[in-house]
Amino acid sequence: MTPLVVGNWKMHGALAEASTLARGVVNGARDVSGVELALAPPFTSLPTVAAITRDSAIALAAQNAHWETRGAFTGEVSPEMLRELGCRYVILGHSERRHIFTETDEMVAKKVPAAIAAGLQPILCVGETLDERQADKTDAVVSRQLTSALKGLNKGVIKFVSLAYEPVWAIGTGHNATPQQVEEVHRGVRRVLAQLWDKEHAGVCRILYGGSVKPENAGELAAVPELDGFLVGGASLQADGFLKIARAFR
Ligand code: PEP
Repeated sequence: MTPLVVGNWKMHGALAEASTLARGVVNGARDVSGVELALAPPFTSLPTVAAITRDSAIALAAQNAHWETRGAFTGEVSPEMLRELGCRYVILGHSERRHIFTETDEMVAKKVPAAIAAGLQPILCVGETLDERQADKTDAVVSRQLTSALKGLNKGVIKFVSLAYEPVWAIGTGHNATPQQVEEVHRGVRRVLAQLWDKEHAGVCRILYGGSVKPENAGELAAVPELDGFLVGGASLQADGFLKIARAFR
């Protein structure tokens, strides 16, 4: 499986900054092979980044989407609108959406099939808070989030889904999960997928890790069995750093 490394710019990257950053990634990525790269700028910068990445192998990703195609949903963007802009991927259920904007499992469960129906490939984020980890609830939380979001999908579309294990306590804190912690949870994710479908279909989804991935820790994390890429926040705002992370898979 080709690893996928996604830069989640969050609410960074107005037009000028997005343009410089995307050009830096496109130029620097010419010597990166064996890894698929994707950039997830804010909605407003998607067309700019789409134009810059158009003739490259770099994919475009959105950071969120609604589940309806159109309607009275002020402030929301539909999966079809994102597909029209050239997005291949959409990040769904990011912990900042869940915890700051109170997105529920039920909402995420509506978004995943809607994104696929529009031709987008969801990157479904799951992960536990620090309290949940300390209470030994990591497996239960991750399993609940996965089951809720994926149980309605039929086997034919699973290949379009990537998962991102993102422990909430590791996001933007500088404290990444250890390779051992990542391996344990990723093996658990694979088990849940096998329960939902079967072993063969469980093997087709990429499982990314996200949470304070940096050039300094990317090598040891990339070596984790059952890890198929990274979702990178802060460190994706520097083209050089992002590309160093991608090269960890060589
Ligand atoms: C993220 O927001 O998806 C993320 C992983 O952030 P950071 O890399 O900054 O921890």
